[in-house]
Amino acid sequence: MKGDNAMGNGILMEELIETDVLCVGGGIAGLMAAIRARELGAKVIVAEKGNTLHSGRGRAGNDHFWCYIPEVHGADMELFLKECLKGPKLRLMQAGTSMKVLRAFLENSFDIVKLWDRWGISMKYQGRWEFAGHSFPGDVLTHLKYAGLKQKRILTEKALEKGAEIMNRVMIYDLLRADGGIVGAIGIHTREKKVVVFQAKAVILGTGFVDRLYPPPVSGWLASVAGGLTLTGDGRAMIYRAGGDVVGPEIPRRHVGPRYFSRYGQATWVGVLRDPQDKPIGPYVTNEDYEYMMYWMVHEGNSSLLEFMKEEGIDIRRHPVEFQIYNMLPEGKIWINERAETSVEGLYAAGDESMGGIGPSATYGWIAGENAATYVKDAPSLDLKKAREKIEEKKVLAEKMRTREIGPDWKEANIALQQIMQDYAGSVRSETLLTAGLSYLQMLRDKADATLMARNQWELTRCLETRNLLDIGELVFIAAQERRESRGLHNRPDYPFTDPMLDGKGLFIRKVGEQPVLEWKAIN
Ligand SMILES: Cc1cc2nc3c(=O)[nH]c(=O)nc-3n(C[C@H](O)[C@H](O)[C@H](O)COP(=O)(O)OP(=O)(O)OC[C@H]3O[C@@H](n4cnc5c(N)ncnc54)[C@H](O)[C@@H]3O)c2cc1C
Repeated sequence: MKGDNAMGNGILMEELIETDVLCVGGGIAGLMAAIRARELGAKVIVAEKGNTLHSGRGRAGNDHFWCYIPEVHGADMELFLKECLKGPKLRLMQAGTSMKVLRAFLENSFDIVKLWDRWGISMKYQGRWEFAGHSFPGDVLTHLKYAGLKQKRILTEKALEKGAEIMNRVMIYDLLRADGGIVGAIGIHTREKKVVVFQAKAVILGTGFVDRLYPPPVSGWLASVAGGLTLTGDGRAMIYRAGGDVVGPEIPRRHVGPRYFSRYGQATWVGVLRDPQDKPIGPYVTNEDYEYMMYWMVHEGNSSLLEFMKEEGIDIRRHPVEFQIYNMLPEGKIWINERAETSVEGLYAAGDESMGGIGPSATYGWIAGENAATYVKDAPSLDLKKAREKIEEKKVLAEKMRTREIGPDWKEANIALQQIMQDYAGSVRSETLLTAGLSYLQMLRDKADATLMARNQWELTRCLETRNLLDIGELVFIAAQERRESRGLHNRPDYPFTDPMLDGKGLFIRKVGEQPVLEWKAIN
């Protein structure tokens, strides 16, 4: 395809910005980190590739918040944690997260609940702590229902009120290292023709989930994913390239939801049971059930789906709504300790990329902000000059894509990648499939590096995201090869049994030189 680059879009300008703490991503974790770090006196910038008012998986609301409230769950937090991890949902979502991190999260979660309630995100229902859903009957109720519809606006306003600077429309695409630590990060503006170089004493990664690696539930529509087109695991890819630890990318997770709509809400749906002849059988949805469900589905971020159903006259009390399994989601995490520190000095992570769900994102964002602000007080002075070579290399990468006059666009590369992931690292994996898939992925990467073209800054953003996805895809392949067993959704017919020796262990991967190094370690 031929682009408008032929008309001479020119070279990208460079803008240099200095700060103490750089929050990469203005989602739930990033904003909470910014608020806390600012409160403790650090100069804070949030670089957000969209707009913090409506970006990320929490953009349209959430409605259940995992937390520990002693007056509800009893005084024994350890017992509560054990009970929480009994259920498959939390066990899988938090796989790869240290028990120390989970404990610190639970210990602090009630404070965050009270804080949000004070800020105007209503955490009570009809004056009480309402725990519902997300647990099997008879099990402990782990998730607090809360009204998250306006959470992004409230957190954005709070961050600005505290004095954090929010730079919307900036995508960070690589970390800058020197003297063994972090000296900043480089980004592009997603609208204007420029790169933005940040000099920062501490960087907090809060870039969220990986939603675009496997084909979406509706083929051909890359944006038809529940989380969002722009959630491409950038933090995981960046830390991997920077030599930090990523854990467990080989174990996937899948959600279900209304067919073709790619909207979550499976915890809140109350349907009408049907017999094999499609005849409705009880229990029936009462009006009270219906009102309750609608209230929470709005807060869970499903307004667009509900509007559509209304327009089409679909009433779940009368009409069956089909569900389907959605796309595969790699569960890999950035490894953090209880202070939210990653394995790279000065680099912190929080949210979906190191834990899963809104409660952990909010709480660990706060913890990351607190520790980063403390760290920068005594952090060594920075010398960005040492990262100059890397900055130039990264500028050239972006400029090449921007100035090519002909070539495939990001969609072609991304769809090819999704195809490879589905066919070679999908629901069935074997040594033969994984070896073949990895070699195809490497061929695709070489081709993408040599030919990918971006006609404008928006496409450049998508291209850089696709490069990140290629790295994450590679991590999935390498780790899936190493996990010679079947476990969860990692099905290997060549190793059909679950290896009990791997219980409680995670597969850590880091780049040493240009080579990935893998290590099994106990998660504790
Ligand atoms: C419809 C829906 C309902 C949900 N309901 C619940 C629920 O009720 N309870 C629950 O526990 N969880 C729920 N979740 C999940 C929950 O929303 C996430 O766990 C939470 O938002 C994660 O917060 P985060 O800060 O890690 O990531 P996000 O909130 O996704 O934010 C990540 C941010 O980083 C930005 N970003 C990414 N890469 C870059 C980059 N390279 N440079 C700059 N910016 C970048 C993104 O634009 C985004 O704003 C739901 C998810 C969906 C989609």
